Amino acid sequence: MNSIEQRLSELQHRITIAAAKAGRHTDEICLLGVSKTYDATHVEKAWRAGLTDFGESYLQEAQIKIAALQHLAIHWHFIGRIQSNKTRIIAEQFDWVHSLYQMKHAQRLNEQRPADKPPLKVCLQVNISQDPKKGGLHPADVHAMIAAFRQWPGLSLQGLMVLPAFTQDALEQRRAFARLRALRDDERNAEYPLETLSMGMSADFEQAIAEGATIIRIGTALFGERCTKSAGA
Ligand SMILES: *Cc1c(COP(=O)(O)O)cnc(C)c1O
Repeated sequence: MNSIEQRLSELQHRITIAAAKAGRHTDEICLLGVSKTYDATHVEKAWRAGLTDFGESYLQEAQIKIAALQHLAIHWHFIGRIQSNKTRIIAEQFDWVHSLYQMKHAQRLNEQRPADKPPLKVCLQVNISQDPKKGGLHPADVHAMIAAFRQWPGLSLQGLMVLPAFTQDALEQRRAFARLRALRDDERNAEYPLETLSMGMSADFEQAIAEGATIIRIGTALFGERCTKSAGA
């Protein structure tokens, strides 16, 4: 009953309904399979079922899967906390980073991005709820960070990402996503249209779609409950 194929088709059904309610097209919304803690076999199954984009949070674990699945045309997204001494791995092995919010990390990723690869696609993580325990840019600092991208040809700014404070209240979930979208609308310009809104996870993606999400990051609703957080699990 609970195969990845079935979960994926259920998810796609819910995405279609949420998109229709919002008057949006399903193909505006990319489903990112968050495969952290799941091994390469699970990723390959999801790929065979039609997913092309996968998100990873732990680099050691991600590198094993990227190496094992080189024969598949997968787009790898880094969505975890960035450490300065690990930026080279991200710059060399990933196609996207969703969790960038520090200038020093941007500088390193820009320098370390291999010249034979297209610019690394980047979303700026915004701490929309201004939660002191969460990473991300203060909304007031987004403007200056966007302006700095001119000096980083190795990076291609795509949009904004949020990991809002946890709540089960659907209205509050939606309010946080609406704030990210409003910030994007204020900050976008001809040079940086910020088309990507990376927001929504298993528990709140319908609210995110209602507020304009273009990438939803789905782990448990696709792969099942994670039993461990440890790398290589
Ligand atoms: C783990 C994770 C997700 C997926 O969460 P689920 O609730 O399992 O869908 C999405 N985004 C980030 C940044 C994550 O770390």
